[in-house]
Amino acid sequence: MDLDTPLQFVKGIGPARAEMLAAKGLETVTDLLYYAPFRYEDRSNSKSIAQLAPGEKAAITGWVASVHNTAFRRRSLGLFEAEFEDASGAALLARWFHGERYRDSLTPGTRAALFGKVELDRARGRRLMVQPEIEILTSEDSHEETLHSGRIVAVYEAAGKISTRVFRTLLDRILKSVSLPEDPLPESVRERLELPSLAHALRDVHAPPPDSNLDLLNAFRTPAQTRLIFDEFFWLECGLTLKKCRSRQVTGISFAINDRIREQIKKLLPFKPTHAQRRVMQEIAEDMKSPQPMNRLLQGDVGSGKTIVAAQAAVIAIENGYQVAVLAPTEILAKQHFGYLSRLMQKLGYTVASLTGSQTAREKQQIKRLIAENYIHVVVGTHALIQEDVSFAKLGLAIIDEQHRFGVRQRLELLRKGTSPDVLVMTATPIPRTLALTLYGDLDSSSIDELPPGRKPVTTRHVSSNAVEGVYSFLAQQVAAGRQAYIIYPLVEETETADDRKAAEKMYDHLARTVFPKLRVGLLHGKMSSDEKDAAMHKFQSGETNILVATTVVEVGVDVPNATVMVIEDAERFGLAQLHQLRGRVGRGAHQSYCILVTGKLNDVARERIRTLVESNDGFYIAEMDMKLRGPGEFFGTRQSGIPGLRMADLRRDSEILELARSEAERLVSSGDPEKIRAVNRYIQEHWQRRYGLVLVG
Ligand code: ADP
Ligand code: MG
Repeated sequence: MDLDTPLQFVKGIGPARAEMLAAKGLETVTDLLYYAPFRYEDRSNSKSIAQLAPGEKAAITGWVASVHNTAFRRRSLGLFEAEFEDASGAALLARWFHGERYRDSLTPGTRAALFGKVELDRARGRRLMVQPEIEILTSEDSHEETLHSGRIVAVYEAAGKISTRVFRTLLDRILKSVSLPEDPLPESVRERLELPSLAHALRDVHAPPPDSNLDLLNAFRTPAQTRLIFDEFFWLECGLTLKKCRSRQVTGISFAINDRIREQIKKLLPFKPTHAQRRVMQEIAEDMKSPQPMNRLLQGDVGSGKTIVAAQAAVIAIENGYQVAVLAPTEILAKQHFGYLSRLMQKLGYTVASLTGSQTAREKQQIKRLIAENYIHVVVGTHALIQEDVSFAKLGLAIIDEQHRFGVRQRLELLRKGTSPDVLVMTATPIPRTLALTLYGDLDSSSIDELPPGRKPVTTRHVSSNAVEGVYSFLAQQVAAGRQAYIIYPLVEETETADDRKAAEKMYDHLARTVFPKLRVGLLHGKMSSDEKDAAMHKFQSGETNILVATTVVEVGVDVPNATVMVIEDAERFGLAQLHQLRGRVGRGAHQSYCILVTGKLNDVARERIRTLVESNDGFYIAEMDMKLRGPGEFFGTRQSGIPGLRMADLRRDSEILELARSEAERLVSSGDPEKIRAVNRYIQEHWQRRYGLVLVG
């Protein structure tokens, strides 16, 4: 057996078990070695039943003497009880609520290990464990008792029918017979951080030594755990840092920035930029001047004014004789950027075009020709922009908005349309730092941490769905005062079913006919034709409709400053970042704005989400909370292709280890020893590339 042996050939794993393991992504011995326990239990207090004292936590091993199946009588609790005996002759009653699942497996004679708190069953004067941990023993286990009790044991998430106990047995076997990998971590790093060797760490994680600290183990901060978590981040950050270096070695465009260009930018600006906008613009200008291609992430809360910053960068590119591409995730947003940029750029005499899927083939053909012949300075588009048959005469700057909707692959496809163009990636909402470091660790980052002056923070309220009438009358008041409002229904565009759509349309009818018969109510959802969407958006933008009933298609970017109320129905069905983004559609003008979250009954997590939103308007804080509550995979609210698959590390728990790994990776790469760096590169290619997925591509 070696590290690459397929699990099927490991003793104790046949084809059936191998399949269950494969379903968890576990295919080789190495995979199993990196299958981390999710919890540890102190079973060092292992006793005979006769020795058990009430109040202590202990582990025993015994057999079922009899079962009291009261699950039928007291149906609501599903109570299941079994009486255990061991060699000491004493008896222990084990009681489970909702214990139906034990009915078939615990029959008289069954051997099992129990772990839990000992109590006294006063009614019957007997020892009792309520809801104990249980592991059913098979005959082959009996000589392995020392593996499963009498010490601190690792607890694994089950895989199919493979229990934590089986995992423990398998790992014990593997750790005893396989020669563990050599340590790839540079000696200097290991010594500086006082980390154990890789082999040592792997062993201790699965079989903690007797003197281990249980609290530390369950906090995932023993030296062994720290080492493995560090590894996973370290190689990723090395990969990202190396990728950054590689992209720096390419010769890109060195844009000139002179007085004439500064004049043009001044002409472009419809308002005085904030300090933050000015600072970020300076960072971008420096990048553009330098001969290395820019690779910058531009973050900023909703409404912080990212678009104008992007427009300034566009001026620099255009004045240097280059074209600019702006990639947007949705048609609505592309249209809006197109409108905004056209208005701005017209003043300077630039031509702006849009290219989206909804245009006719003829229109598209025409625009593509104009792009190829360098008649167009700025082209704003959706996915249509990265089609193969789009070619630029001289692409100098690629701006990618709401990047998280695109994969790394799309970013690369756009870049290929120029020769090392500068790239500016913009995000709709701030990204938690840990996620930014893992997903965009190869990019430089700028953030606009200040809102334009005069913004009044949006007032957010939580209202129960049976009080929605009050919300509607408030809405009518606002409209009477000349304002406009959104009412959002929780339909996610991609999953919108015919039923959902009908519900939205029915709701719209109800609102338009019964609730607001005197007002003009519009409807906007993802399945409308592009012309219908345009018309609905246009009517709302021009103030012709008072209330827009919409799905989350308005989530990103839409900018109607006269809209002051955002009502979100079934708000519990949205993620935090998404709610914040929706809220960002109001509060864009001079009037006080309101966001009203209407919900039904809430579970704890949903209540926490709503509370966070009511209490805070700070997108950076909200992003952190969102990731804590939902996990990194769900953070963006849409399936995200780029997040690396982490096995040991957890972005929510391990941010400080990530920071450490980042700085160590930078130190290693900047040490510049080419031999060392080649070795690191090779190691990442061989061992991690597959895991990390797309983030290291390119
Ligand atoms: P986001 O960062 O959400 O993309 P936008 O670029 O859409 O924000 O800007 C939001 C609104 O704020 C727009 O109407 C824009 O014109 C306005 N704006 C941006 N910067 C300033 C500023 N410095 N002063 C006044 N208004 C600004
Ligand atoms: Mg925007």
